[in-house]
Amino acid sequence: MRLSRYFLPVLKEIPAEAQIVSHRLMLRAGMIRQQAAGIYSWLPLGYRVLRRIEAVVHEEQQRAGHIPVLMPTLQPADLWRESGRYDAYGPEMLRLRDRHGRELLYGPTNEEMITDIFRAHVASYRDLPLTLYHIQWKFRDETRPRFGVMRGREFLMKDGYNFDIDRAAALHAYNRHMVSYLRTYERLGLTAIPMRAASGPIGGDDTHEFLVLAHTGESEVFYDDRVTALRLGARAIDFDDRAAVAAVCAEFTAPYARTDETHDAALFAAIPEAHRKVGKAIEVGQIFYFGTRYSEPMGAVVVNDRGDRVPVHMGSHGIGVSRLAGAIIEASHDERGIVWPLAAAPFPVGIVNLRQGDGAADAACEGLHAALAAKGVEALYDDRDERAGAKFATMDLIGLPWRITVGPRGLAAGRVELTSRPSGESEEMTPAAAVERVAALCAAGGRLAPL
Ligand code: ATP
Ligand code: MG
Repeated sequence: MRLSRYFLPVLKEIPAEAQIVSHRLMLRAGMIRQQAAGIYSWLPLGYRVLRRIEAVVHEEQQRAGHIPVLMPTLQPADLWRESGRYDAYGPEMLRLRDRHGRELLYGPTNEEMITDIFRAHVASYRDLPLTLYHIQWKFRDETRPRFGVMRGREFLMKDGYNFDIDRAAALHAYNRHMVSYLRTYERLGLTAIPMRAASGPIGGDDTHEFLVLAHTGESEVFYDDRVTALRLGARAIDFDDRAAVAAVCAEFTAPYARTDETHDAALFAAIPEAHRKVGKAIEVGQIFYFGTRYSEPMGAVVVNDRGDRVPVHMGSHGIGVSRLAGAIIEASHDERGIVWPLAAAPFPVGIVNLRQGDGAADAACEGLHAALAAKGVEALYDDRDERAGAKFATMDLIGLPWRITVGPRGLAAGRVELTSRPSGESEEMTPAAAVERVAALCAAGGRLAPL
């Protein structure tokens, strides 16, 4: 992509209400634009990040055996009357009427609708287990929308719902979600700690939240800091193996980690003092097991292997996709701008032409751009007629993992410079070697093909 033909409206003046660094950087880097309180347009750079995050979420859900669908944003109120939540939900729910006076709502979540789909099509235990999920916009009329996309009113969520024959099977689905979520956050460069949580309006006893430590977080957390060293890494996990999946969950939930809602001072005091930490964190996901809370009132019933009709055991599991864009920036930035992890980066690499209009420099940049594209690597080529300093500042602000710098002097010696955004380290090499290196780094980092 040539920057001269792109739409990257970087901002110099940042609105005073942007209090936290991710919000400021998303505005400065031209990623988002607020259209109303807590409602945003995603501009090209931001939209690329959002789609990258979605791609990782999809991949990890499908690896765990979960099936993507797409439900609408608008839902009939009557479905929510069946579960009793239409009246219970309160002013966070956006309620509206169509031209016939029929009551609708903009979905804040989808338990009722997915239960309706299930009951219409599934009648036997033979069709279980089943987990369906979607990535769809939600609306919650939050009292205090703030911090940019971190607490929006309209926001993008991945929400998944499991249907199982009994509690044991549903707890396996719960554990599958925990492991797939841990892998998702890890691939996005985040350390997200599963913490026992209190259940809200969704209901249920078994629930964990996933929290990313950040001093701007809205949740207060108490934890044994040894939990932050745990990594899934590249280990292979058989998602059908109940014991293996449960063992991973046991490993990640063994160290004490709770939010203020479930905090237990006595357990916390038992942690060696050097490891006892209190801090702030951002909630980036939550999983619930709630048994027959929806299947009973809504009649989501299957015939079991003894011929009895039983309500299915369910759970729901959410990842804040749009919030993650902000959370990643909170966790990964410096004084010059964003430092994207490869998996979420809008482009893996930028090309900076130090002397636009110089025949050799222009040709070398064009060549790099094309050679990278041929390998499936999307580069953002800064071909503007700007000073080198301004080009570097833009690249640092938007935080692409690598930068290839091309200038007449280096080219005379057959060299360009490859610079890592996180470390700032540079290395000189031939243009062909730079292409090979970036392509290899993308492949090794699990960077998916262009979207
Ligand atoms: P919170 O406590 O932050 O209000 P929640 O517990 O009400 O969130 P869930 O119902 O658990 O939210 O939704 C799943 C995920 O969706 C959350 O973990 C969070 O990452 C994201 N999310 C929830 N509300 C918002 C919001 N207003 N803006 C952006 N993301 C949100
Ligand atoms: Mg939650």
